[in-house]
Amino acid sequence: MIIVLKKNATSTDIKSVEDKVRELGYEPHTIQGEVRTVVAAVGDESTHSSLEALTHLAIVDRVLPIQKKYKLISRETHPEPATVQIGDLTIGNGEFHVIAGPCSVESMEQTMTTARAVRQAGATLLRGGAFKPRTSPYDFQGLGQEGLDILDAAKVETGMPVVTEVVREGDIEAVCKTADVLQIGARNALNYALLEAVADTGKPILLKRGVAATVQEWLLAAEYIVKRGNPNVMLCERGIRTFETATRNTLDLSAVAVAKLESRLPVIVDPSHGAGRWDIIIALSKAAAAVGADGLIVEVHPDPSVALSDGDQQLEPELFAELMEEIVPFVEAAGKKLAKPLPAKATS
Ligand code: PEP
Ligand code: MN
Repeated sequence: MIIVLKKNATSTDIKSVEDKVRELGYEPHTIQGEVRTVVAAVGDESTHSSLEALTHLAIVDRVLPIQKKYKLISRETHPEPATVQIGDLTIGNGEFHVIAGPCSVESMEQTMTTARAVRQAGATLLRGGAFKPRTSPYDFQGLGQEGLDILDAAKVETGMPVVTEVVREGDIEAVCKTADVLQIGARNALNYALLEAVADTGKPILLKRGVAATVQEWLLAAEYIVKRGNPNVMLCERGIRTFETATRNTLDLSAVAVAKLESRLPVIVDPSHGAGRWDIIIALSKAAAAVGADGLIVEVHPDPSVALSDGDQQLEPELFAELMEEIVPFVEAAGKKLAKPLPAKATS
């Protein structure tokens, strides 16, 4: 922290600030300029009390943090990018992964048809919500355990690891039996008790950005999980709430670039929730690949016109196959390679 003193601070003023800094567990280093004096407080902000309260001293003008609040996930402290292992798949190692599947698991047939189609097109992981966080309590809330059983069957047949959402702590045990990756949705993105609880499972976590979360809040949410001892976190940009009405949210690709610079975690882009409309998903996917994302999560439904949730933004399988072809030059322009699906385990 840097403590900037008001103009013409006297030596008594400076000494009083230095004493306060020492009291709070830091070592003060004072630099006296012609007009201004600044006191650099050296020490670990995570183990000592915050110095921000020093703004209450009459002689203090500003207190400026210089350390990043996210230490474990930051590139500043750990320059090497982190990878996340999901079974035999590695995320963040230069391969570009596409997670695809329905918004909600609706039936065995709908999920199986989608899983086969997205795998055929080159998706490496299957998504699908069994527990759905819906804005309206009257909307389809997901099939719950039955949805998890359907995802299990799709996993057995296609060999694709499953990404599915946890909305409450009480469901974690059941969801973990099926999920290879636990998704934390935008609505729970700042629910710190839930973040710690999913961290404790040790499973890879796909952490969406909250609808009104700043990049710093998003990264600090990830820090919660890593600090709890689970380094297997993937960040997911899924659009934020803005004044724009042409799209459901505003897909913030600047945040993807910032997250890649600031943090060492893989970043996945969700153009489906970012756009809320199927007709710009391919364009946004190309942009996401070009900006340096490590992968996509895309909603696909065999017949979006009858989907029980997010029908307006889900792609038909044919369009998804086009997406998979059209993104390749953008993935490669960003210096990555499109990952290949794992072979399905032979079943007799
Ligand atoms: C979802 O992935 O279907 C979902 C509900 O996403 P979000 O939390 O980003 O709204
Ligand atoms: Mn959805």
